[in-house]
Amino acid sequence: MTLIATPLPLLSDNYAWVLQSAGVTAIVDPAEAAPVIAWCRQHGVTPQKILLTHHHDDHIAGVPELLAVYGCAVVGARADAHRLPALDQAVEEGDFVEVGEAVARVIDTPGHTVGHICYHFADDRVLIAADTLFTLGCGRVIEGTMAQMFASLRKLAALPGATLVCSGHEYTLDNLKFALSVEPGNEALQEQGTRYRALRAEDRPTVPSTIADELAANPFLRARDAAEFEKRRLAKNSFR
Ligand code: ZN
Ligand code: FE
Repeated sequence: MTLIATPLPLLSDNYAWVLQSAGVTAIVDPAEAAPVIAWCRQHGVTPQKILLTHHHDDHIAGVPELLAVYGCAVVGARADAHRLPALDQAVEEGDFVEVGEAVARVIDTPGHTVGHICYHFADDRVLIAADTLFTLGCGRVIEGTMAQMFASLRKLAALPGATLVCSGHEYTLDNLKFALSVEPGNEALQEQGTRYRALRAEDRPTVPSTIADELAANPFLRARDAAEFEKRRLAKNSFR
């Protein structure tokens, strides 16, 4: 276990992640630069890499300023190279990305966007899930099809239960309300809800969760098939 993954709250509800292994630091999805730079100064580290999951502004807007300050190498999806900052490593499903001694395998997860990718550090049991899988939720299906998003979530559901799910937003209490409307009697969900409400009451992050926790309580991972997934995703879009 050599990889440390630390969530960094940015904007109103985004998380960038700081990944550290063997003296190397990488930043995942910097929505803005100033808080990342402040964190790095405070911890005396210089980021060498930036890992991007998808092209949305709230995941890449801090890249130019970080490059100006640190000159990091940028890693992102080859499929979206035309709408990402210039990539030093363009990757696709099955490619490997190193952070110090830690190695991630790239998983294509189209749905939220067509080029969305996740990074799975298998030896360290860390999944960078970004806007595909959230604590008790999943990303909106904006560019891909419902079937694509369902298939992407099935790939993540197949990872070992102890895998940490490092997602891109703090949407958990909203997700909890919807999940309870779907499965009010789910005891694992109720237990997680108690835990997450307590964390948020202290303004602490509800990330990372684990694949096992999501399998037990996340209505989108618990959908039996693509049709049920689509029904739930559409219901969530208009849920208040
Ligand atoms: Zn997004
Ligand atoms: Fe986002």
